[in-house]
Amino acid sequence: MKKRILIVGGVAGGASCAARARRLDEDAEIIIFERGSHVSFANCGLPYFIGGVIPNRESLTVTDSAAFKDRFNIEVRLQSEVTAIDRARNEIEVNSLLAGELYRVRYDALVLSPGAVPLRPALPGVDLPGIFTLRTIPDSQRIVDWLENKQVRSAVIAGGGFIGLEMAENLAKRGLHVTIVEMMNQVLPPVDPEIAAPIEQRLRDRGIQLVLGDGVTGFKKTAGTRTQVMLKSGAACEADLIILAIGVRPESSLARSAGLELGERGGIRVNEQMQTSDPNIWAVGDAVEVRDFVTGQWTSVPLAGPANRQGRVAADAVCGRPSTFRGIQGTAICGAFGLTAALTGATEKSLKRAGITDYEVVHLHPRQHAAYYPDSKQMQFKLLFRRQDGRILGAQAVGEEGVDKRIDVISMALQKHGTIYDLEEAELCYAPQFGAAKDPVNLAGMVAANVLRGDVVTVPWASLGHNGYMLLDVRQPDEFQAGHVPGATNIPLPELRKRLGELSREKEIRLYCGVGQRAYYATRVLMQRGFRVKNFSGGFKTYQSCRAARLVS
Ligand code: FAD
Repeated sequence: MKKRILIVGGVAGGASCAARARRLDEDAEIIIFERGSHVSFANCGLPYFIGGVIPNRESLTVTDSAAFKDRFNIEVRLQSEVTAIDRARNEIEVNSLLAGELYRVRYDALVLSPGAVPLRPALPGVDLPGIFTLRTIPDSQRIVDWLENKQVRSAVIAGGGFIGLEMAENLAKRGLHVTIVEMMNQVLPPVDPEIAAPIEQRLRDRGIQLVLGDGVTGFKKTAGTRTQVMLKSGAACEADLIILAIGVRPESSLARSAGLELGERGGIRVNEQMQTSDPNIWAVGDAVEVRDFVTGQWTSVPLAGPANRQGRVAADAVCGRPSTFRGIQGTAICGAFGLTAALTGATEKSLKRAGITDYEVVHLHPRQHAAYYPDSKQMQFKLLFRRQDGRILGAQAVGEEGVDKRIDVISMALQKHGTIYDLEEAELCYAPQFGAAKDPVNLAGMVAANVLRGDVVTVPWASLGHNGYMLLDVRQPDEFQAGHVPGATNIPLPELRKRLGELSREKEIRLYCGVGQRAYYATRVLMQRGFRVKNFSGGFKTYQSCRAARLVS
């Protein structure tokens, strides 16, 4: 008898699992059950469809049902909701939403890729017209219809994460006045606050109103299409369109009722082959909990890349190949109004949450390509690494250009258990318009290695204000005049060697410059002359981001 592989959910994880399974087993019967009316579509493109950047809704479909049949001999059953799993009989129960009938199908292998559900908390007024979540093509069409048929001039977006920011940009593009309400004190909760700070500034510069550290408590209809959004602080704002982008929860209800093991976050627990607690059932994508690559803790990270790769791993496992999922690094990127923020691996926040203290941090502000070549742009870069051996733990960057390339390179190094010494030695593309002879990746490794080799001792800007040291600014006087850290003394680097007599040998000296480079040179001078010196990582530019993020007073 033919092996029958059933797949629940036909988008990122499910579709890639089905196609891979066919490539490995030409004889298997493969059926995808999809509750919605679209298979294999690009959720990630939805904000851009709403903004009109992707003008054609059809281009969001990656592979339609007919192509699945023609190309892969895979049957897709749309509007077919799997309502139960009978594990004793290896059968699923399907509700055909069109025909309105229930039927059962036997499986040899069952793969669950049911995704996640956007959070829609039971707040007063949450079901009023004009309040939307965004997950599917029909969701996006409902928003577009509302925009086109009502007099929509303003929007409130609850949630300042990736989807919230993408929606803010796309709605602003349509001429709306946009307010983002975010419960945390920063936008982009996955990154550290000082990396989010430039994004916040850019949003404000482009007219987006930011309400941070406040949460939505309810909604009230006012006149016409207007809805009042009530906030925890007692404040309120009003808009014609509300988007709830406050996160998702794993869609694990089917797995829960089938008695499969779930984790603390409600995701389906799987092993490295994406196999659930039932040996005939696999699960992938936003619905699962997997190990964090850096901390080793169980986690659930709803991203398309991992869902696709896990789909392949599950197909391999179902077809008898020994592939394994390596764990999730959380490599992610977000663009908003010409700025890009990206991360891979652990952040300082996530290390602290995991109780990991054996780490060092460096900040730097390299340029995406040679400074002398036109249009060079500075990015803000943060690298976290293990003190013990220099193992890379994570990296984050924000800037106008070149952020994606650097974070991708570091993501790969991290996955290969690389160290900062590997980053120093990385041999990357260079011509003036593409990079620098010392690429930002090399520089990050070099700055980090300087710390571990003891050539410089860095301190975080958050420690500013502790007494008992001299604060020395080694920038040029005009830079100092334009803005400096309160209490700092200015001795420009070119004068330092002549003015050593002005420095105390008893007191520790803490240095900074613009971005860290001149302070490092000054540190080397002073250390070799016997002074006790520490360096504020990333210089005045990082100080400004830390101040904007309220990490320093
Ligand atoms: P999904 O792709 O959601 O597919 C799950 C499918 O299962 C759904 O179609 C659902 O209808 C179906 N289903 C659920 N239960 C049943 C059932 N019982 N029976 C039958 N069918 C069922 N990720 C990125 O990495 N980068 C991005 O830029 C990005 N942008 C995004 C933008 C938006 C607006 C959204 C919503 C998501 C974005 N994501 C992005 C996340 C990414 O889309 C998801 O991580 C990915 O789609 C998860 O794949 P999945 O297969 O687990 O779930």
